[in-house]
Amino acid sequence: MRFRSTAMNAALVVAVGASPLACDAQSRPGQGRQPTIPPPTILEYQPQSTLVVPEHEVPRAKFPVVDIHGHPPTLDNLEAIERVIAAMDELNIGVMVQARPSSGARLRSQIEAVREAGYEDRFVFFASLDLNDVGPGSGARIAAQLEEDVAAGAVGIGEISKAFGLYTRKADGTRLAMDDPELDVVWETAGRLGIPVFVHTADPPEFFEPLDFTNERWLELALFENRRFMDESRFPSFDDLMAERNRMLMKHPNTTWILAHMGWHTADLARLGAIFDEHPNVLAEVGAVLYDLGRQPRFAGEFFAKYRDRVLFGKDSFQPDEYPYYWRVFETADEYFDYYRDYHAFWKLYGIDLPDEVLQKLYFGNALRLMPGLPQAGWPD
Ligand SMILES: [Zn+2]
Repeated sequence: MRFRSTAMNAALVVAVGASPLACDAQSRPGQGRQPTIPPPTILEYQPQSTLVVPEHEVPRAKFPVVDIHGHPPTLDNLEAIERVIAAMDELNIGVMVQARPSSGARLRSQIEAVREAGYEDRFVFFASLDLNDVGPGSGARIAAQLEEDVAAGAVGIGEISKAFGLYTRKADGTRLAMDDPELDVVWETAGRLGIPVFVHTADPPEFFEPLDFTNERWLELALFENRRFMDESRFPSFDDLMAERNRMLMKHPNTTWILAHMGWHTADLARLGAIFDEHPNVLAEVGAVLYDLGRQPRFAGEFFAKYRDRVLFGKDSFQPDEYPYYWRVFETADEYFDYYRDYHAFWKLYGIDLPDEVLQKLYFGNALRLMPGLPQAGWPD
């Protein structure tokens, strides 16, 4: 475990021991008071906002959307396909990229089912890679499977899961590094085929930080044991993973990379901007990081405007009722509204109010440019 060795930690211990915070030099009125009634637990305290401001719900996106990070159910039967289509129609999602693991027969059966159902203009598929037990010769085998999947209709690679880098092992039992030379042939093949590689690396930086009461994701980490990566004896650090991922990007400048979840740099967008500046072959996707974008509407707005050609819409988990939160953050200037998952964020969101030109690139323009295999007709000019 890593521990913060700051004065903050010492102060926290004191606070937990029910003494006044010792670190503050200047005393303030009421400082150090304790509740005279029993305080609620973190789960019990659910304050309702009393703020009255204009509200603009956005049940339907302003422009049709390509969701490049779709995790709908396996689309190998009409019932599943039609259920997802109904939700897409309601939300104005024109095309969904199936980013669930899918290769070989599993990939082909979905492509066929979608075609038979008459929805080949609404779904496209990424191919997954089998990165387990990599050893000598694995790269060529994985690349050959990729060629086969692309010939069958896959338009990209992904989603490569966070396991890659965090804990996927090689045949010899060591951790598979993302920049392992055995995989060079795979990334070069993607570059030659002109398909993007959609990769999820690590997880939010807070998951690698000490699980103390200063951690912004304390509740989520307390709820989900499998999201705790702070044990250095088992996992690389967040920064080591980012450095390794960046070496992989750098090694393959002719391959297009899409960083899932904005590379987990939404709490520090300038860091992602530096990656964009250095690597013209890198784009990023906004899935599951709305809680960070929506708490910095001005800085995020500047970022999206500046890097309007580098950002893609993606949602991640397929919960139709959660998409409108994204539309509202991107399309309105609403203030201080609820997010859909309280364990991601105990704070409220603000609308970024993106201009139409930026919104169109985010919603569909960049995806169409990147993936010629997407249905190219029927989009706004
Ligand atoms: Zn995903």
